[in-house]
Amino acid sequence: MATVLILLGPPGAGKGTQASRLAAERSLPHVSTGDLFRENLSQGTDVGKRAQEFMDAGKLVPDEIVLEMLFDRVARPDCARGYVLDGFPRTLPQAEALQARLPADDEVRAISLEVDDEVVVRRLSGRLTCSKGGHMHHVDFSPPKVAGVCDTCGGELVRRKDDAPEVIQERLAVYREQTAPLIGYYEGLGLLHRIDGAQEPDRVFAELVDAATATRRETA
Ligand code: AMP
Repeated sequence: MATVLILLGPPGAGKGTQASRLAAERSLPHVSTGDLFRENLSQGTDVGKRAQEFMDAGKLVPDEIVLEMLFDRVARPDCARGYVLDGFPRTLPQAEALQARLPADDEVRAISLEVDDEVVVRRLSGRLTCSKGGHMHHVDFSPPKVAGVCDTCGGELVRRKDDAPEVIQERLAVYREQTAPLIGYYEGLGLLHRIDGAQEPDRVFAELVDAATATRRETA
């Protein structure tokens, strides 16, 4: 039996940071489809080439490409006990494909990090991403000690192409239209837990750990 923890929420809700902490806490792999696409892009793979134009425009990569890449990843032995999903699923067909593929005794929990658009725009427009380790800084909220250099690993800090203001608006629109309905989908399955993602990061994490360990009955 595996535990599948799904983090839902708009871009900038803190899914990446929190998923990585949760994965470490539970000793499970952190599976981020955005990170997998960025790795594919930097390695120049076929998947990377097919995904690039969608990513640069803030659009979703077509489901069949995402599903193939994701299912390959979670079939690896390190995912046998479970995994933390970040940025997947993002459409109803992706969620349905995941549910259909999971063995019946797998434990699934979907946790929605809820934040307003205004918070999202403020967070994303100042975000600096480490090009080496994916660590996050922010020009106002967590500026690096040395400009342009990641505090954690010394990698170069860059502004992601899709964190440009017009692309942020597009990503938010895509989220509202295609991904937000998943909250209702998991609620209907009795698997949803909601968290206020605008709280202090440590508070969000504490609630996330609770939600990830709550029994199925409590989350319904
Ligand atoms: P993220 O790092 O999660 O914000 O993802 C960056 C970009 O990768 C997104 O804007 C999409 O273009 C693409 N992407 C990541 N995950 C998915 C997914 N589950 N479905 C479709 N596109 C995705």
